[in-house]
Amino acid sequence: MPEEAEALHFVISKSRETARLYGYKEVVTPLVETYELLSAKSGEEIRSHMFTFKDLGDRNVALRPEFTASIARLATSTLKKEPKPLRVFSVGSVYRYDEPQRGRYREFWQSNFEVMGSSKPEADAEAIILTNCLMKLTGIKDYSFKIGHIGVIRGILSQYNVEEDVQNSILRLMDKKEFNKALELLDKKRCREVLEGLLELKASTAFETAEKLQKYVKDYKVAKIAAKNLIDIIKLVAAIRCPIEAVEPAFARGLDYYTGAIFEVKVPELDIALGGGGRYDKLVESFGGDPTPAVGVAHGIDRIILATKIQESIPQEKQRKTVMIISVKPELKTEALRISEVLREAGIMVGFEIMGRKMTKALEDADRRKVDFVVIVGSKELRKGAVAVRDLANREQFTVKIAELPEIIKGQSKNGD
Ligand code: AMP
Repeated sequence: MPEEAEALHFVISKSRETARLYGYKEVVTPLVETYELLSAKSGEEIRSHMFTFKDLGDRNVALRPEFTASIARLATSTLKKEPKPLRVFSVGSVYRYDEPQRGRYREFWQSNFEVMGSSKPEADAEAIILTNCLMKLTGIKDYSFKIGHIGVIRGILSQYNVEEDVQNSILRLMDKKEFNKALELLDKKRCREVLEGLLELKASTAFETAEKLQKYVKDYKVAKIAAKNLIDIIKLVAAIRCPIEAVEPAFARGLDYYTGAIFEVKVPELDIALGGGGRYDKLVESFGGDPTPAVGVAHGIDRIILATKIQESIPQEKQRKTVMIISVKPELKTEALRISEVLREAGIMVGFEIMGRKMTKALEDADRRKVDFVVIVGSKELRKGAVAVRDLANREQFTVKIAELPEIIKGQSKNGD
């Protein structure tokens, strides 16, 4: 509906502005892709929720459930030779067969940012910081980030030789907060205990939790490096006062391709995330490209709109003046049309009478539509190069030279100030 479309385009425009400010170039990817590409690395959670079908050429295709696979493919082909880091932005609708409820739809919009080529914490921090920027640009006041690190969990599991498939299942269950089921998948008692301990780790601030985590995994080589990486990222984002509410050592996200830090942004009024992302260092390579470390983030535009409504944060745009133009006689229609184009060229919205209504009916219609001014084109005024203008709010009528009409309309307000 019109107001919803307006809100959608407001958030899209702010995403684009964020892309411009951070130097991300926009690409437009296909809505329909091969099932093979979309399902290859997204993970079971997304794979099982895709809209798939056979096209007329008997190919298995699907509606995109996210952007990352398409962008990763671009990085292995058309954009392969581009200098690194490669910063890419896309925005559009995506499709998942989720159970519809407030903030969870089967067709929804995402703005998506990917930065490729850097393994440094600065790249992870950038994804968080630009999300912070988008929150501010949309006027959302009260929001906070939650950060975790897949590398810590995978590091511990790998040290106990847990296979990658089992690791993926464990992460998926942890993402759904089904921790007991996740622990049940581990047959080594010690490994289970260590992971259980990880779930309970907490301190009073996010930074302290990260430090505690680093100590907790000191005997696990890969996990220890991951925990240090998490601390480095937190230090960077803290420098610009990004509101990091929590470091959650047991935080996992639904996509299988994450390898490093992961994060989500939320508002207190909603228990669903407005956006989320993380590092995926193996994806481009798995699509046949060169080894390319990368970080991505996707923002749920529908949920951002929901948050802006709850927090009443979308700034009210100054209403522009609207005009209805009516000719007194049918012979003056062409002249009225010419004047309406003069006004439109000056940026004024003009409704041209196309129902063949007589003056009284046309004025009633203008009233009902709450237009600011009715421009009446009559022969007497036209002879002097003028028209009659009726200010509907003030119930006044005056004569205006056509040459001065755009400025007069723009300069007047409904209240006559
Ligand atoms: P993901 O691609 O799963 O990392 O999700 C990124 C963001 O997309 C989430 O943080 C949500 O804001 C949004 N999102 C995911 N699923 C849905 C859905 N079914 N309806 C609306 N927004 C969604």
